[in-house]
Amino acid sequence: MSTQWKSNMRQKFITGNWKMNTTSAEAGRLAKAIVDGVGTPDRVSVAICPPFPYLALASEILKGSRVALGAQNLYPEKDGAFTGEVSPTMLLDLGCKYVILGHSERRDKLGETDAFINQKVRFALAAGLDVILCVGETRDQRDAGQTDAVLDRQVTQGLAQLSAELVNHLIIAYEPIWAIGSTGHDATPQQAQEGHAVIRRRFGQMFGEKSAQALAIQYGGSVKPDNAAGFLGRPGVDGALIGGASLQADQFLAIIRAGISAV
Ligand code: PEP
Repeated sequence: MSTQWKSNMRQKFITGNWKMNTTSAEAGRLAKAIVDGVGTPDRVSVAICPPFPYLALASEILKGSRVALGAQNLYPEKDGAFTGEVSPTMLLDLGCKYVILGHSERRDKLGETDAFINQKVRFALAAGLDVILCVGETRDQRDAGQTDAVLDRQVTQGLAQLSAELVNHLIIAYEPIWAIGSTGHDATPQQAQEGHAVIRRRFGQMFGEKSAQALAIQYGGSVKPDNAAGFLGRPGVDGALIGGASLQADQFLAIIRAGISAV
């Protein structure tokens, strides 16, 4: 496994998803502040996922640091007539190690289906990227008692036909949609732990218990410096996918420190 945290199950993996935010100047400053602040943590792995236009800039800044680069999406083709799209080959060329796929904002606002996400996951892994696959239920689905069924379906369909040797390069992020973006309805660490257990169980049924125990599952949904320790201290919560708080270097670094303390 190429990712260092995989060799030690107790390591945490903290990823910043910048979404469609920052100017190039802000992106440069943010990446630099994270590199400078993070030092050489050996108990936590860190990645940032800037918008496509700033990947090259961030890649230069991250060079030689312990912060890895990720993208927020890709198109599942190597090259060709796909106007406006970005291929895994291009992301690798820019120095990306990770790609976030299946984020709820893409499912919801851009109509991405489990089948399309599955195509992307398989293509990205085969190309050599590590995939962070996002899954999570809506508030209505939770209220209707459908959380486990939704997570089961998203894992099953998102990872369909995936070859077993590639699952080592997969991370799953459990992101209850109702808790994303400082909605004022944060999940509790207990709810996060329960979601992670459902995901790990389904993953184990698909790929075996050994792979399930090695799978890193991040929690995402309004993780901030003041609640990070609560999530990261839970068994089976192997890290965090951070949206809003990853845009402030001091907040992101504080969450990384919480990850280090939780190990
Ligand atoms: C996200 O969108 O992946 C996310 C976790 O956002 P936030 O931390 O802002 O809730």
